[in-house]
Amino acid sequence: MALPNKVEYLIIGAGVHGLSTAYHLGKYLKEKGQGEGNNILVLDKTGIAAGASGVACGNVRCNYYQEPMTNLMIHCMDIWESDPDYFAYNSVGYLTASFAPMAEGLAAVYERHQSLGYPSTFIEGENKVKKYMQSIFHDWQAEKLEVVLHEHRGGHAWSKQAIHGLGIKAEGVDARLMTGVKVTGFDIAGDGSVTVVHTDIGRVEVGAVVVAVGPWIKQLWDMLELPREVPDPRHPDQMTDLWHYLALQEGEIEINPYIHITNDGQRPPLVHVDSDVPLFSEDGRLVWDQPWGIYFKRDKHSVQGGAVPLDVGLECELDPYGTRSPHYCVDDQFYDLWVASLAHCMKRYEGTRQYASKKPSGGVGAFSADNFPVFDFVRPNVYAIADSNHGFKMIGVGEQVARILTGEGSELLAPFAYSRFANRETLPRSNAPFPWM
Ligand SMILES: Cc1cc2nc3c(=O)[nH]c(=O)nc-3n(C[C@H](O)[C@H](O)[C@H](O)COP(=O)(O)OP(=O)(O)OC[C@H]3O[C@@H](n4cnc5c(N)ncnc54)[C@H](O)[C@@H]3O)c2cc1C
Repeated sequence: MALPNKVEYLIIGAGVHGLSTAYHLGKYLKEKGQGEGNNILVLDKTGIAAGASGVACGNVRCNYYQEPMTNLMIHCMDIWESDPDYFAYNSVGYLTASFAPMAEGLAAVYERHQSLGYPSTFIEGENKVKKYMQSIFHDWQAEKLEVVLHEHRGGHAWSKQAIHGLGIKAEGVDARLMTGVKVTGFDIAGDGSVTVVHTDIGRVEVGAVVVAVGPWIKQLWDMLELPREVPDPRHPDQMTDLWHYLALQEGEIEINPYIHITNDGQRPPLVHVDSDVPLFSEDGRLVWDQPWGIYFKRDKHSVQGGAVPLDVGLECELDPYGTRSPHYCVDDQFYDLWVASLAHCMKRYEGTRQYASKKPSGGVGAFSADNFPVFDFVRPNVYAIADSNHGFKMIGVGEQVARILTGEGSELLAPFAYSRFANRETLPRSNAPFPWM
């Protein structure tokens, strides 16, 4: 397919956000009688699901301490549930068992769930928590967990499959997808808007641009000549870099996935645990004595999950390998911690360290200065979907962006405006060991 001379909407990136935007935009334009069939073009330098969306664990949850995140996630959950087949969505629920520092925050999240009619169960007190966990997993043995928040919606999606499903739906509403085409620059007019997008195979005149490039955001930010620094959310009189990188720590133990099963033979919810109990290896070596957080689920051929990410810094070598560059894949230290924590929680995982996968796993994410997304126009006709690595679960963001592009507003995305840094309206932090809770 040749690059068109001109397109009304050019979307950069064929991950969850680019394709969700393309699908919903195509749908809404058709509903308005404006779906001409050549309005929307999605470009990706590699392929569909080639970025973070294709390697994500696929967790979908709504236990966010920040109210705007809860509201947005309930909207995303509605979209996941609207087409579980094409979105490869498994609505198994999401269970968080946590230590004392998280108790107050999770209680507040539960209260919000109740007020919004989102179904969840809250359990408080060490003995009650253990009893609740053992009612699901008979061999649950973790100590010193004070609270459980069990969401009865949420779960996970098979990540690559879900993005291909979105791609099919986008093409079904006449969005065009071109892969192997890299955006290399922009012509910027006097009023700040982008008139032409340059690629490695030619140029396209554009009406509006959506930038949905996941961890490549800093490269596109520079091409758009946007400021690299923002007021520091933690030190009001200082500036700080807008984007930094963390390496997401995820892996799998290659055992019979049906080991991960509930007492009544069902597929369990995705389990997330935060704790500060020291962890020991199978031969009695201390492997971790800091607060830790992990999550795990039954995968197609294994038990899969992750732990707290590692700091990479302000620069990150993404190409030629992409988000799963060998520099940022997990190593033995991750598996020592993660498998020890699984065995700490459930007796069935004792002795499973030997089954740690040798395949490359994990990947790098770009995080903003307050670790929350930037969803906003960054030039008069350029909308950035920069999710600060929160975002596989955020399938509904593209739907809201499609509404904005077709002339409606979005209350759900307003709290994620870029101007929040300048206005000192960044989102509050929780006590979780993870940057995204
Ligand atoms: C290991 C890992 C696990 C994760 N687990 C979860 C999870 O369980 N749940 C969750 O909610 N989130 C998770 N995330 C975060 C989530 O994957 C990302 O936030 C989300 O997928 C980002 O989607 P995106 O569409 O913005 O970007 P991506 O999926 O990264 O897509 C961006 C696309 O842009 C293309 N591109 C980049 N530059 C250019 C250019 N110049 N020209 C053309 N195309 C370009 C890339 O090829 C890529 O295909 C995880 C992330 C990682 C790395």
